[in-house]
Amino acid sequence: MNHAGGARRIGILGGTFDPVHIGHLRGALEVAEMFGLDELRLIPNARPPHRDTPNCSAQDRLAMVRLAVQDLPPLCVDARELERDKPSYTIDTLMSLRAELAADDQLLLVVGWDAFCGLPTWHRWEELLDYCHILVLQRPDAGSEAPQELRDLLAARSVPDPQALSGGSGQIAFVWQTPLEVSATQIRQLLASGKSVRFLVPDAVLAYINAHGLYRASN
Ligand code: ATP
Repeated sequence: MNHAGGARRIGILGGTFDPVHIGHLRGALEVAEMFGLDELRLIPNARPPHRDTPNCSAQDRLAMVRLAVQDLPPLCVDARELERDKPSYTIDTLMSLRAELAADDQLLLVVGWDAFCGLPTWHRWEELLDYCHILVLQRPDAGSEAPQELRDLLAARSVPDPQALSGGSGQIAFVWQTPLEVSATQIRQLLASGKSVRFLVPDAVLAYINAHGLYRASN
């Protein structure tokens, strides 16, 4: 779908997706519909191996995201961060995406509230809005509080009506999604203790987890 002047609207949702679950997918789908996005790209992050619960390879995480979004346009997968073998800074990902888009295309970076509160720790965070708008997804478990520098940024850049986002970049809006209090951590823990995660992940993802014996405690 093209918007004013043929500009396209591309949303991006980065995450470890370890594994992808209904919280990610419902959020992505609702944002895509709310904003009439041409594409909503899920971008799995390269991740340093430091977690304590069993987790899986980048290749498995990518395979599961692909299964989750197959036949679910405009959701799709963008594997660019996994094509490098070290973690990418979001600013680099945004710049590489921007290089492929027309100047007036809108790029919407979708982040959960918890991730948004950590924004000032991101590499070159003050430049992020030069490349995209930021859509903040409210999560039911949002316990974090925005630091002062973010409150200043919000005062300068947030728009009360998300539908009023204008131009290719530079603004922040908040959206509510159907609250789904599920996390990948919880899913890994359930699997590690031999419990079912049915209905927390798409059936195709569950089938992949089972077929590859992922997240099971090794014994
Ligand atoms: P983990 O439990 O391993 O930290 P996670 O479930 O939070 O993982 P991530 O892959 O880290 O998942 O999240 C990617 C993005 O999706 C983040 O912006 C995060 O805030 C958002 N997100 C994750 N779970 C939900 C949910 N249940 N509802 C809304 N947004 C979510």
